[in-house]
Amino acid sequence: SRKYFIAGRINLIQRSKIRELFERASKMKNVISLGIGEPDFDTPQNIKEAAKRALDEGWTHYTPNAGIPEFREAIAEYYKNTYGIEIPMEKVIVTVGAYEATYLAFETLLEDGDEVIIPDPAFVCYVEDAKVAEAKSIRLPLKEENGFQPDPDELLELITKRTRMIVVNYPNNPTGATLDEETAKAIADIAQDYNIYILSDEPYEHFLYENAKHTPMLKYAPDNTVLANSFSKTFAMTGWRLGFTIAPEQIIRDMIKLHAYVIGNVASFIQIAGVAALREKESWDAVKQMRDTYAERRRIVLDYIKEMPYISAFEPKGAFYVFANIKETGMKSEEFAEWLLEKAGVVVIPGTAFGKNGEGYIRISYATKKNKLIEALERMKTALEEL
Ligand code: PLP
Repeated sequence: SRKYFIAGRINLIQRSKIRELFERASKMKNVISLGIGEPDFDTPQNIKEAAKRALDEGWTHYTPNAGIPEFREAIAEYYKNTYGIEIPMEKVIVTVGAYEATYLAFETLLEDGDEVIIPDPAFVCYVEDAKVAEAKSIRLPLKEENGFQPDPDELLELITKRTRMIVVNYPNNPTGATLDEETAKAIADIAQDYNIYILSDEPYEHFLYENAKHTPMLKYAPDNTVLANSFSKTFAMTGWRLGFTIAPEQIIRDMIKLHAYVIGNVASFIQIAGVAALREKESWDAVKQMRDTYAERRRIVLDYIKEMPYISAFEPKGAFYVFANIKETGMKSEEFAEWLLEKAGVVVIPGTAFGKNGEGYIRISYATKKNKLIEALERMKTALEEL
C-alpha cells in the first residue's frame, strides 16, 4: 500500500554511525570525546541579549514564510560586505539550520531517478537527503594526495544525462580541507556547461587558518549555486537552529512551497537575534576569538600526530577537524575507533561514517577544551606506542 511504500523509503535512511558511537561512549566512564561536530563555546552575549529583547518587544508571532525581511536584508548585506557579492533579498530564505537548506535543495531540484554527485568522504546528511528525494547518489572520490579537492576530470566522467546536482562543502567536514580557487572555477564551469546545480554547503566559512581564504561558490557560479549556510558553527548557535539558503529565484519559489507547510519558519525572536549577530561588532569579535582558539588547538593536534607512530595527517586549513590516516596501524577505521575507545577511552569518528572512501581514516574534532584535548592526545599516543 501507499503507506508501506513511504515507510520503505524512510527505512532506507541510515542511523548515523556517529550517534551510535556516542551512545556507547556515554555508558563508559572517563571518556574524552574528539568526535563532537559542534562548537564548545557559548553563543556570544550580544546575540543572547538581542533574543531576550526581541521576546520582550513582541517578536512572538508567525513571520513571512521566507523569513523576516530585515533579517533577509542583513544576510544579503553580509554577502555584499564580505565577498562583494550582490544578492537581492528575494533570493534568500531563512531555514532551520543548514540541514533544512540542504533538504530543500534535494527535494526541490531532484526527481525520482535523477543523479546527484556527492563527494566521498562527505558529511552524512547528503546521501540520506538523496534517498528521501529518490535520487541516485553518485560518489566522487576525494583523495588525500589531492588535498581532498574534487578532481574536475573525474567529475566530468561521472556526468550523465540524469545529473542534476553536485554537492560541494568547503571548508569541509570531515577532512578540514578548503577549496582551491582554481578547482572552484573548474566546478563552476562544468556546472554552467552541463546545466547542473551546485549545492554548496558552507557552514564553516569563518574557520580558516594560516591565511586560507574562503571560496564562496556564489561568486563563481551565481546562477547555478544553491547555498546552504548556518549560524550554528559561525556564532556557536547550534541549538538555535538558524540557517538560510540563497538560490535562483525560481528555486526559491519552489522551496518556499515545501518550507511553508513543513516548517512555517524559524522562531521570530531568533531571526531578530540573527540580525544582531550579523550587524554587531561584538559577535564578530567573538568569532575571531573562537577562530584563534581553534587555530591553537589545530596546531596542538597536528604536532601530536607527528609524534605518534602509525598515524599521519594532511594539514587541513579549515573547519575544526583533522582527518588522520591510520592505514599503517593495519586496522580498519571502525576497528580503530572501537580499539581507541576501549584502550584509551577516546572517541574519534571512523572515516567510513562519511563514505567508503573514508576507509583508513579517522576524524578528530578539536571542538574540545584544550586540557581535555591534550589529555586525549596523550592517551592516544600512549595507546599507539603500545600497539
Ligand atoms: N553541513 C555540514 C557540513 C555540517 O557539518 C553540519 C553540522 O555538523 C550541517 C550541515 C548542519 O548544520 P546546521 O546546524 O546548520 O543544521
